[in-house]
Amino acid sequence: MINTMIANMMPFMPKSLVRAFAKKYVAGKFPEDAFRITKELNEEGALGTIDLLGEFNKEEKKARATVDMYKLVLDNIVSQNLGTNISIKPTAFGALLDMDFCTKNLTEVISYAYDKKVFVRIDMEDHPYTDFTIDLYLKLNKDMPGSCGTVLQSYMKRNLDDIRNITANIDKANIRLCKGIYKEPEKVAYHNRKKVQENFLESLDLLFENKAYVGIATHDDVLIDGAYDLIKKHKLTKEEYEFQMLLGVRSELRKKLLADGHTLRIYTPFGEDWLPYSIRRLKENPAIVGSAIKGFLTGGK
Ligand SMILES: Cc1cc2nc3c(=O)[nH]c(=O)nc-3n(C[C@H](O)[C@H](O)[C@H](O)COP(=O)(O)OP(=O)(O)OC[C@H]3O[C@@H](n4cnc5c(N)ncnc54)[C@H](O)[C@@H]3O)c2cc1C
Repeated sequence: MINTMIANMMPFMPKSLVRAFAKKYVAGKFPEDAFRITKELNEEGALGTIDLLGEFNKEEKKARATVDMYKLVLDNIVSQNLGTNISIKPTAFGALLDMDFCTKNLTEVISYAYDKKVFVRIDMEDHPYTDFTIDLYLKLNKDMPGSCGTVLQSYMKRNLDDIRNITANIDKANIRLCKGIYKEPEKVAYHNRKKVQENFLESLDLLFENKAYVGIATHDDVLIDGAYDLIKKHKLTKEEYEFQMLLGVRSELRKKLLADGHTLRIYTPFGEDWLPYSIRRLKENPAIVGSAIKGFLTGGK
């Protein structure tokens, strides 16, 4: 209860204080921080997906700087031989300004990555962008097969229809499946936790049935256990799916997934705009506020 109250007050607290709570979720401010964390993950046996923070951007100049920064990241992925791909968000590339401008920017980064043989995940944001994101994914996969994949959210009531549409249009769809993080109206999204879990497993079953490569993105034990059962049911080899987790969340689960022999990818955000991302993570799990305070008081012992 107290942790929840503190998490809700985070947007009004001094940045330096929030950073102390939030630092485990973000690699750091600079691309070098993301490269360093990726190397550590690779040594541990995990892969990465690097994300430049800065969603819901309303400045043209910043959208173009995002394109340039992702190109620098891609150059380094190749030159440093990092085991990672990238994740990109339409609203960081100008979706709030002009959809054509945004499409041009996203396409520029995906083409650049395609030339370097690095896969790009187009993250899924809130529902005004769902059609846009899926349509762009379908179009770019026609022009540059295998260049990119997208994300589907099991809280969305339309999810099974989206899976049928995507898998009917792409031979080997590449989908990250997650619950969904945005505050969506009941008209479009389930609010009931059990229903979101059921839809996740039904979606995963349908994706596997339609031969999609799935990034199973969850830290929920019910869904991990359900995914283990579905992997067995569909007799999948470890090349046909992967698990995905967020940096800083449930490191013991990370170890278990790797020990069980699964491919595991860790979402690795970096950038100056770490604040909104971190607040979202803290609100998602206010218990972390309590352990951070304990860490302060005990000097981390
Ligand atoms: C790799 C990856 C990419 C994602 N991409 C997107 C995307 O493109 N679009 C989108 O809408 N959403 C995305 N998400 C977020 C996702 O939709 C969920 O909001 C988030 O993963 C929490 O759901 P969960 O399935 O882990 O279940 P939860 O029930 O939220 O979590 C299960 C357990 O994990 C632990 N846990 C969860 N969150 C935290 C935390 N912040 N700190 C500490 N412990 C925690 C807790 O022990 C919790 O009980 C992504 C998630 C992952 C893992």
